[in-house]
Amino acid sequence: MGLLKVGTPLSWKDSLEHLNYIREHGVLQFIATYNRLVAVENDTLLYGDEIEYGILKLDRVNRKARISLQGSESLEFLRSREQNIHQVRGCSWHQEYGSWMIESTPSQPYAGYTASLVSVEQNMRLRRGRLISALGDDEIAPTMVAFPQMGVDDFVHPPVMSGGPASESEFISDSCINPHPRFGTLTGNIRRRRGSKVDIRVPLFKDVKTPEFENLQEGGDEPSIYMDCMAFGMGCCCLQVTFQGSNLDESRYLYDQLAGLAPIMMALTAATPILKGRLAGIDARWTVISQSVDDRTPAERGEVVGVPDPRMAGGGVTRLCKSRYDSISSYIHPSSFDQDSPSSIQYNDVPCEIDEKTKDLLLQNGIDAALSHHMGHLFTRDPLVSFEGNIQELDDEQSTDHFESIQSTNWQTVRWKPPPVQSGDSPHIGWRTEFRSMEVQMTDFENAAFTAFIVIVTRAILVFNLTLLMPISKVDENMRRAHCVDAVNKQKFWFRNHILPDDADEMIASTCPQAPPRKSGLFEEMTMDEIMNGKSCYYPGLVPLCYTYLEHIGCDCASFSRIDQYLKLISRRASGELLTPATWMRNFVQAHPDYKQDSVVSDSVAFDLVEACNEIGLGTRPCREVLGNMVIDPICKAGQYSTPLSGDRMGNEDLRKVLKNIM
Ligand code: ADP
Ligand code: MG
Ligand code: MG
Ligand code: MG
Ligand code: MG
Ligand code: MG
Repeated sequence: MGLLKVGTPLSWKDSLEHLNYIREHGVLQFIATYNRLVAVENDTLLYGDEIEYGILKLDRVNRKARISLQGSESLEFLRSREQNIHQVRGCSWHQEYGSWMIESTPSQPYAGYTASLVSVEQNMRLRRGRLISALGDDEIAPTMVAFPQMGVDDFVHPPVMSGGPASESEFISDSCINPHPRFGTLTGNIRRRRGSKVDIRVPLFKDVKTPEFENLQEGGDEPSIYMDCMAFGMGCCCLQVTFQGSNLDESRYLYDQLAGLAPIMMALTAATPILKGRLAGIDARWTVISQSVDDRTPAERGEVVGVPDPRMAGGGVTRLCKSRYDSISSYIHPSSFDQDSPSSIQYNDVPCEIDEKTKDLLLQNGIDAALSHHMGHLFTRDPLVSFEGNIQELDDEQSTDHFESIQSTNWQTVRWKPPPVQSGDSPHIGWRTEFRSMEVQMTDFENAAFTAFIVIVTRAILVFNLTLLMPISKVDENMRRAHCVDAVNKQKFWFRNHILPDDADEMIASTCPQAPPRKSGLFEEMTMDEIMNGKSCYYPGLVPLCYTYLEHIGCDCASFSRIDQYLKLISRRASGELLTPATWMRNFVQAHPDYKQDSVVSDSVAFDLVEACNEIGLGTRPCREVLGNMVIDPICKAGQYSTPLSGDRMGNEDLRKVLKNIM
């Protein structure tokens, strides 16, 4: 989320008259960045992960877990401690949406060496160790996507009343929103722009005694879990990975390639089977967040014909097919942007609304069609938070605030990140791509495994000239399937079966009778096992490709032994031999003696579950179903940070004291 502006946000009413200005100048700021850095070449691979945590307070006497609204204090404390130590690699702590949440990243990005892939896990463990050392004895910070009891009864510590002016929620207090003014304003403005509270519905899981299904009329509505505020969505924790491309072109290429992997990796990391105290009929978070920040007006959602308000993007009435938190709607590399392409395949085959004024301005400034189109799409959205004294005052050559105001509230499965303005002696940051769909895992072994996997896959794509490109309609269909209960084992996903460059592909196909002819289609439905581990003799599978890549670069043996364990985890999870966290958690609930087969996750079940997840993350409780025979070394509570290796001579008096026990 970067650094947050401190200042007074304008009310939605007052910001209305500035929306067009901010959008227009956001485009100008992007043009300035583009012109300044379009020619950057030979940036090295740098990458880094982000992990989000929820802080929970345990009432062990009554066996009840609550979210603990102390994220800000923990953040301050962790940051101040971090400043006092000088280590090669430390941790950075960031604000998150919820006031019980916190985000961590490595203090510096990783450089592109095999050994870095192993450092990722060490650093994640260090972060977990430091975080827990900042908590009270009755507090935990498991890496779970959603707190199971979110929005149920008195689920907050300290106790609060539901609702408030920002969310007007029936279930969740505004005190659960990070106290920084940006977050409450964001929440309120989404609701105000939309014209009503957000309306989140996900299917309820049907168990043998789930009451909602008992009196269900034939053809009646599907029983669902109803949620009514942003915290249900933005309160979810995820795992993100950002890569620096060697130049602008490569960052765009990887964006397109990773877009297709987003649903696949979400299904494989699925960890959200419980929402608002109920077992859900889905396993993954994305749709919840998407609905939780859906600021579209009824006209934009296509429900009514509206009266245009010229102060808003598209007059606030132009149809927008997706929420601003959703999958992508267009590719951005010139090779995949086929608007006028003679190719028979249309990759950009879903509606993608464009702010024509933005697109025209970019085209006039010499920016190519694919990128102008992408920006034109992002700028169909309004800025949601504007700060007093930070609008017309900004210099478009020196600031990217207005650009970021649009960019950072287009929350898509992948994000293309232009370089920030460089200040003082801060290091150069290049063109980056962020992979955003993965669900946070219970252990850092898994979080590191998925981070390393994505890094290696991007390398394999580049080095082997692979393409995973698919029509976006198929990627969107995969996203829908990726939410389903146990999607890894129960769904098939559209995937590309000809991923090699044409010549190589033809060579392989000629020796593989099972290979479908190119002209019968480059895409087919595969199981997760096939996508990851290979299918027949024509599609090698992503995991074998990773191994081949590691062999190709001559990966050092020390790094390989750990990376091998990561790839095995992924391979086995894809084959169904190991469970996703979602399946494991669902099984945990269903096997709990207090569970009544009614899809209700009661306080005691939730309490045991969050404790179990916490212990698994800390390495104090095994979890063979998810981890196989991998043993997690217990996390050290890292309250005492690295200690200087002193060389100061001691006086005799002290020496005698120090040595008295052993001499
Ligand atoms: P955001 O919340 O906007 O996605 P963060 O700053 O929280 O961004 O995290 C971005 C991640 O990118 C961090 O892991 C950080 O280490 C990493 N990172 C920082 N600089 C670079 C860079 N030049 N290239 C790639 N990744 C980087
Ligand atoms: Mg971040
Ligand atoms: Mg962020
Ligand atoms: Mg975050
Ligand atoms: Mg978040
Ligand atoms: Mg991020």
